[in-house]
Amino acid sequence: MPKRKKRIVIKVGSNVLAQNNGGLDVKSIEQLTRQIAALNKQGIEIILISSGAVAAGRSLINLPKKTDMISQRQLFAAVGQIKLINIYAEQFAQQGCLSAQVLVTKEDFRDREHYINMKNCITVLLQNNVLPILNENDVISVTELMFTDNDELAGLVSSMVDADKLIILSNVKGIYNGSPGKPSSEVIPVIEYGDTSFENFISSEKSNFGRGGMLTKCSIANKVASLGIPVQIANGRDENILTDILEGKTVGTLFTPKKNISSIKKWVAHSEGFVKGIVYIDEGAEKALRSNKPNSLLPVGVTKIEGSFKKGDIIKITGTSGKQLGVGRAEYNSEKATELMHKKNEKALVHYDYLFLNDHQLI
Ligand code: GLU
Repeated sequence: MPKRKKRIVIKVGSNVLAQNNGGLDVKSIEQLTRQIAALNKQGIEIILISSGAVAAGRSLINLPKKTDMISQRQLFAAVGQIKLINIYAEQFAQQGCLSAQVLVTKEDFRDREHYINMKNCITVLLQNNVLPILNENDVISVTELMFTDNDELAGLVSSMVDADKLIILSNVKGIYNGSPGKPSSEVIPVIEYGDTSFENFISSEKSNFGRGGMLTKCSIANKVASLGIPVQIANGRDENILTDILEGKTVGTLFTPKKNISSIKKWVAHSEGFVKGIVYIDEGAEKALRSNKPNSLLPVGVTKIEGSFKKGDIIKITGTSGKQLGVGRAEYNSEKATELMHKKNEKALVHYDYLFLNDHQLI
């Protein structure tokens, strides 16, 4: 089999793409498309997740004051996305690169079937040397079922395509070892997997234009690193940022990855939004799951079951402290699980291969 090409997911935040007054910063987009096209020509597959639709739309349309927040977002996104994608398409074309727009909602990742459809879509684009540009379909994603932000979408896509790296570009240089405004604070170059000492410095402030902030970025970076993918957070406005990162220069903050995890576990890890039931387990079961051995969740350790789920549904696993331990795919429905609760020598409720445990949670 031919060796798979290097595959990088790049997420660009609204603050990299928008000017302070709200319009799109074409120069900044130009800078990024030039670098991405160059990497593409070197044989690196790039999947671009780009925000900026709402910011672009805001500068194009004057709204009557009465328009409610949801309608505003829909209007801005509908007007802005076409503008944004046109600039990308034109600039990539000038660099000899064919690009495509893929607009997604959280629903598109709902179950394994939807997930595989989405994966096939990205794969066929890459196989045909087309550069996918993804954004959330903000026009219809308006309910609680939308992504927290595009960082979440980028994390999901990275694990879906088995990316070799996720690069998150925003308008900050990385994670600082103090308040970013203080002259004594410096960017932490590397955060080893499992090291949480940097957390005290993360501000919960949101950016000007986008929905995300450093807290969600770090949380996603941690999760993606726990799935075996390195993540780099860097300043997207630095002129040669992408080439610098791929040449291995010390820029931004790199989250080093945990050991490799199977793609099925990656899907389970990102299915939390579709939980159909909660399973409470006792101390013994918690210990078994947390041990270094590949243990499945057995009914003997289950103390309570909430919700109604079918075989194949995603269920949340909660420990004695009430904290979520992880998620998994149910091997049988909630009725059978209730029947087998506390019983020894029964078939696993969640098989190890379909079990994802949170190592550490920031939010
Ligand atoms: N999808 C939104 C946009 O294109 C941005 C969401 C986010 O800030 O992450 O404007």
